Amino acid sequence: MIDRFDRKINYLRVSVTDRCNLRCFYCMPEQGVDLLKHEDILSFDEITEVIKIAVELGFEKIRLTGGEPLVRKDITELVKMISGIKGIKDFGLTTNGILLKRFAADLKNAGLHRLNISLDTTDPEEYRKITRCGELKDLFEGIEAAVKAGFREIKINTVIDSSSDEENAQKAAKFADDNGFKIRFIRKMNLEKGTFWNVIGGDGGKCSICNRLRVSSDGMVSPCLFSDEGFNVREIGVKEAFIQAINSKPEKGVMSRTHKFYNIGG
Ligand code: SAM
Ligand code: SF4
Repeated sequence: MIDRFDRKINYLRVSVTDRCNLRCFYCMPEQGVDLLKHEDILSFDEITEVIKIAVELGFEKIRLTGGEPLVRKDITELVKMISGIKGIKDFGLTTNGILLKRFAADLKNAGLHRLNISLDTTDPEEYRKITRCGELKDLFEGIEAAVKAGFREIKINTVIDSSSDEENAQKAAKFADDNGFKIRFIRKMNLEKGTFWNVIGGDGGKCSICNRLRVSSDGMVSPCLFSDEGFNVREIGVKEAFIQAINSKPEKGVMSRTHKFYNIGG
C-alpha cells in the first residue's frame, strides 16, 4: 500500500510479547513493568490472521520482535504458522539471543528466514551492567547455535550512546567482523522526548523512506514509532486498522508517550 507521502508500506514489525528475560537499562526499568493481561495479548491465530491480511494488502517483509520474542510460549509454533503464509518474501526475528541455544534449530526448521541479534559489547562485565542480569556466555552460545542451525546473514544490533567509536561498540564491531555478521549501530533514543537518529548500517530513522507499520502484542497497529496513534485490530477489524494506520502515517515522527521499546519492539 502507498501512503499519503508516496511511500510504499510493505514492512510489518510484530511484537509478540511485552515480557523480557533481560532488563537493558535503555529499554526497561530494573524492577520490570506492568505487564499486559493475558487476555489482552493476541493469540497465535490472531497474529497469523493479522499477518495474512497484511500480506494480502501488499506487505512482504515481516519481523517478529518483543519484548523478547523467544520468551513467548511455543514461539516456534507461531513461526511455523506464519511461515505457511504465501507471499512473505522476508521473515525475520529480532532477539537478545539468550534463549537461542534452545530455539535456533527449531526456528530454522519452522521456516524463519533471518535473525537480528542484539549485542552491545563482548565484555562480560559491561554486558551484565547494560542488561542488568545477562550472561554473555548464553548469548555467545546462542549465536553459535544460530550459525550451526544454518542461519545466514545474521545481523548484530548494537546500541550506542552517540558514536560507533565507543569502546563497547568497537568490541561488538570486531566480533561481527570476525564472524562475518553485518552490524547496525542504533543510537539510544528517547521516545518521549522524540530523540531519534538514523540507524548506522540500516534504514531505521529515515522518515522519507520509512516503509513500516508496527503491531503491538495487544493488537494496536501503529503508524509510527514516534506517534501515539494506534488502531486496535480487535475493535475495528484487521483490514480497517491497517488502512487507518497507513492513512495516518505522519511524514515525520515527533514523539510518543505510549510507546516503549519493550512494548513496541523497536
Ligand atoms: N528483545 C529483543 C532484542 O533486544 O533484540 C527484541 C526487542 S528490542 C526492544 C529491539 C531492539 O531495540 C534491540 O536491538 C534493542 O537494542 C533496541 N532498543 C531498545 N531500547 C532502545 C533505545 N532506547 N534506543 C535505541 N534502541 C533501543
Ligand atoms: Fe529486553 Fe530487548 Fe528491551 Fe533488552 S532491548 S530489555 S532484551 S526487550
